[in-house]
Parts: sequence; C-alpha cells; structure tokens
Amino acid sequence: AERFGVNRSTVVRALEELISYGILEGEPGRGTIVRSNTWSLLMSTAPPDWGSYVKSGAFQENVPTIQTINKLEFKKDIIRLGTGELSPDLFPRELMSELFHRLSQKVPSLNYLEPLGLPELREALSQRLKKQGIDADPSCILITSGSLQALQLISVCILKPGSVVYTEAPSYLKSLQVFPSAGMRLSGVPMDREGLLYWTIKEEDALLYTIPTYHNPTGILMSESRRQELFRFCSSRRLPMIEDDAYGDLWLEERPPRPLKALDKNGMILYLGTISKTLAPGLRIGWLVGPQSVVERLGDVKMQVDYGASSLSQWAVTELFKSGLYDDYLTGLRIELKKRRDRCLQLLDQYMSGLAKWDIPRGSFYIWLRLVGRIQVDQLFQLMLKDNILINPGNVYDFEKNQSVRLSYSYASEKEMETGIRKLAEVLRDLT
Ligand code: PMP
Repeated sequence: AERFGVNRSTVVRALEELISYGILEGEPGRGTIVRSNTWSLLMSTAPPDWGSYVKSGAFQENVPTIQTINKLEFKKDIIRLGTGELSPDLFPRELMSELFHRLSQKVPSLNYLEPLGLPELREALSQRLKKQGIDADPSCILITSGSLQALQLISVCILKPGSVVYTEAPSYLKSLQVFPSAGMRLSGVPMDREGLLYWTIKEEDALLYTIPTYHNPTGILMSESRRQELFRFCSSRRLPMIEDDAYGDLWLEERPPRPLKALDKNGMILYLGTISKTLAPGLRIGWLVGPQSVVERLGDVKMQVDYGASSLSQWAVTELFKSGLYDDYLTGLRIELKKRRDRCLQLLDQYMSGLAKWDIPRGSFYIWLRLVGRIQVDQLFQLMLKDNILINPGNVYDFEKNQSVRLSYSYASEKEMETGIRKLAEVLRDLT
C-alpha cells in the first residue's frame, strides 16, 4: 500500500475543527472523545444549498433601490416623497365604518366565489364602465387580486415566451418585471407630452402595454387625437393592447378623454382597472375587461393561483359602487388631491427652479422632475436617505439611464413635503 505523510499540525487543526462543530469533545484527563450524538449532529450540519434554490426561481429580484424602498417605507419618521399611495390622513374612516356596518347585515357568506368573481360586482362594474363609453357584459369581466395580478395572469397564460411587449419608456416599475419574468422581451416606446410615439413600433409578434391616463411615472395624459391614432395604428396591425387605467378616476380639474377601450368594438384591448389608487390597495381588488375567451382562460388559472380575490373585499367594493358612497367619496378626494398638488407645485417653484423642470399634472399623484444638472440619481437617492427622506429615482422606471425623480403629492404631509423638497434642492445644489 502507498504511504502518505500527514503533517502533525494538519491533524491538530482537523481535531480543533471537529471540536468546534461539537462532534468531538476534549476533556482534560480523558483526552479527545467522540460525542455520543455525533450521527445526528453530522446530519444536522448539512442543510440544503438554499442559496442555489433561491437563485433558480422564475421571478427576477427587485433592483436594490426598490428592495431598499420596500423596507424603509415602514421605518419610523421616514419622509416618503415618492410613494404612489394615498396618505393615511386621507383614509375615509367614516365611510369605512358605514360600509362595514352595512356589510355585516348583507354579506351572505365569505365562501369561495365563482372563477370570474362575484356576479353582483361584475354587474355593478358593467354599469360603471358604460358611463365611460365601455360596453362590457359581466361575462367579459374578471375580478383580480389587484391589477398587477391581471398583468401576471396575462403574461403567464396568453403570451408566448420570447414575444415582445412594448411599453412606454419609462413605465410602471412592475410592468418592467412581470413580463420578463414570464419570458417576454420588453421594448420601450418613447413619449412626448401627448403620449407614446406609436409610429416607432416595428415588430408584429407583439403586444402593447400602455398607461394612457396620468401615466406612471411621468403623469402624462394621452391626448384625444393620439388615442384615436394609436387605436387605428394598432387595429390595422392587429396588435393587441393592454390599457392600464389605474388612475383614470383621479382627474383634478376636468375629466380625461375616454379610455382607449371605449373605441374598441371588436376586442383589441384588455382593459385594467383597480380600487388601489382611489381608495385602498389593501383590499386587493382590480378588474380586467376583455374577450370572453381570454377572461375565461385567466379566470380558470386564477382558481389555481389564489382561488379568487378576497370575497370580503368583493362584497365591499360592490356595496361601494352600488350605493353611490364611492362616487361621493371620489368627489371629496379630488378636492383634497388638487390642494396637495397645488401646494407641491408652490414648493417646487420656491425651491427647485433652475434645478429641475416639470409639467403640471392634470390628475393622479405624480410630478416627474427632470433634473437639470448631470446628476447620478442613485447617488441622490443615497444622499437623501441620510436625512431619512425616500425619493423614487427615475432609473428604476426606465430602460436606460434616467435623470429624473418621481415625486408624489398624495402621501407626505404638507410639512414633510416642504422639508423633503427643501432638502432635495440643497442636495442637488451641492451635487451640481
Ligand atoms: N398599474 C399601475 C400603472 C400602477 O401604478 C399600479 C400600482 N402602483 C398598479 C397597476 C397595480 O395596482 P394594484 O395591483 O394594487 O391594483
């Protein structure tokens, strides 16, 4: 047999390591002994390689800035200058108390519901959509757990991996993740003040995802004429569209043009709505309107995914719509949001002129600050964090480098807005 020389110090290190694992015990006077439960210790010191499991899931991770925002939003005393949600100060406590009182008398059960969602809610939605010029039978409406789930279902049920999804550049942050996670290739379409420049779209085997009304993150409202042209362009190429109308009810002075879906008489468009921006994202209620074959397919898969959206939330939204409580609430909300927008614009005039450019949003929550100097928005994000202020840097919404910041006037209080914007100006001045 071959003989190997073993270095004495290697043996000593090996013994020390085994002692540190608790496999051997060194006792003065007794030498080194093997512990009686060595076998179970050996078994328990070898967990699966979760690191490689964690990396192999289908979903992409959030970019680090978003992971930071998702965590820090809940830190005490943080100022949230970019949050796309209503402030807790705007939470309609009386409305909710009235609503839940009514529900306690009316809801027959909280059992599972049918695949497309509560029929009463789909009927109420069908009536509401009619007022916007959308002709949707309840059989063509699917209730989803938020409109993000509608995007999810569309991407895994009806789109081909490898096909192209056009979106505005920049676009809603999660649209940039949900489609690629399901294997689609994204392509950004540039915008001007009237909406996306549809004539730059080239490919045939594709679909267009658009947010024509108070676009997230830029706040751009697609003009009436651009809507007509876009619809004609897509119809002539049989290019299907997803119209995301999360913000359409949040006009501040005058109603926006009708949704693209109002032009659609033969099923070109999958139209998405949600209660998240107007009232409560925590209810997790959204809806999708489209051809019956698509709605049924998505509803069938939804039963596998979560067995339907919360039935309590579905009853709640039905009551809100049918009673008129919701429309009264919206009227008050628009007044509040307009006040906040105007105050935010005053603050921007006071502190930010010369440092950024912006347009006046006509609805929704966002002001898109286009920074004037050569600014690294990631660095700006980090510097603002030092003062406990969270901003949403534009590069998380875009396909390429971006020199903008998405401000929101819906979340921070007036005082926080002032502190935050003053600080933002200070930091920008230091950086330029
Ligand atoms: N679409 C757009 C454009 C959004 O801004 C949001 C929320 N930020 C959503 C969809 C998703 O909303 P939810 O899933 O809560 O309905």
